[in-house]
Amino acid sequence: MQKRIAALAIVVILFLAGCQPISPYTKYRGQFNSSFDTITTIIGYAETQEAFDDFTADAEARFLELHKLFDIYHTYEGMNNIKTVNDSAGVAPVVVDPLLLDLVDLCKEWYVKTDGIVNIALGPVLQVWHDYREEYKGDTASAKLPTEAELQAAAQFCDINKVIVDRAAGTLYLAEAGMRLDVGAAAKGYAAQVVADEMKRESVPSFLISAGGNVIASGAPKDGNRDTWGIGLQDPEAEIMDNNDNLDILFLNDTSAVTSGDYQRYYVVNGEKQNHIIDPRTLHPAQHVAAVTVIVPDSGVADILSTTLFILTQEEGKALIESLGYDAVWISHDNVVTATEGAQKLMKSYGATNKVSK
Ligand code: ADP
Ligand code: MG
Repeated sequence: MQKRIAALAIVVILFLAGCQPISPYTKYRGQFNSSFDTITTIIGYAETQEAFDDFTADAEARFLELHKLFDIYHTYEGMNNIKTVNDSAGVAPVVVDPLLLDLVDLCKEWYVKTDGIVNIALGPVLQVWHDYREEYKGDTASAKLPTEAELQAAAQFCDINKVIVDRAAGTLYLAEAGMRLDVGAAAKGYAAQVVADEMKRESVPSFLISAGGNVIASGAPKDGNRDTWGIGLQDPEAEIMDNNDNLDILFLNDTSAVTSGDYQRYYVVNGEKQNHIIDPRTLHPAQHVAAVTVIVPDSGVADILSTTLFILTQEEGKALIESLGYDAVWISHDNVVTATEGAQKLMKSYGATNKVSK
């Protein structure tokens, strides 16, 4: 299996206070790369190393389980996952874990709220782009775009209304052969939220999970000095995970910050980057911005909205995110950072800090 370790779109920075901690908790850090083709970092305040290690091990196991459930490329012994559902398109409903039904329902709800911009039934079109990207990503000289005929043919099988959730039967069904679900726009953030909700425990009262650009901050850092976590907004052009290349810092807590960008998965055709986020209106990669970060309490919704805002123009995205009462920060192709008013209040460049205000 080819393993792709994506760069972290958001780099977590901890600002160490100059004075001694007045807290029984120590800060620990753990990392794994076993799920969602990315590096997941967990930072937590715990009373003991053992408590933190248990926490990280449980989180890793749960992330892996969810990765398998949402996988579109592999089947796993004893589990019906998205690939099982895709393989049964037009044939039969498949009994699945209720959590998968929850994810599909959430995506259907937001399909309507975002005017169809993020569509988990876009799988056939995403597959065309995926195949081209895989074939040509190391071969810029002969790289080609998919033909319009290929894209249009695939688009005939992307009707989300034919994705049937039957709660009573506990099944998921794609009602037409040729359909294919792809939950890549939502799965990582959704999984991170499930893990964060399940992992709340007394021995680790505050933690931060960063799953490849999907950050959840839960509870104020327990060092007695800060009420927020500092989250670096990475320069899209910077070398992978170089902490010095942050364009800004967001100070936040008890919320989620999720980034979609064009700098992780793409291939180049005639000098132009073709990234992995596809505008369903054009069937081509969205190219308005280099990256966008949304700040939304639920990380599953945040993931859907970060992909949505990456596809929309900045003006369209701003109107949408503000109408929902959430915030966002855009990074343009020439590294200009623009933020909603609410986001500005959290940003270092606008004077925000992470000290407890007394
Ligand atoms: P990442 O997974 O790289 O963090 P995103 O959350 O923005 O980034 O999701 C991108 C993934 O979403 C793509 O790899 C693809 O699987 C899927 N996708 C791309 N465009 C769309 C779309 N318009 N609707 C639904 N899913 C999409
Ligand atoms: Mg997303």
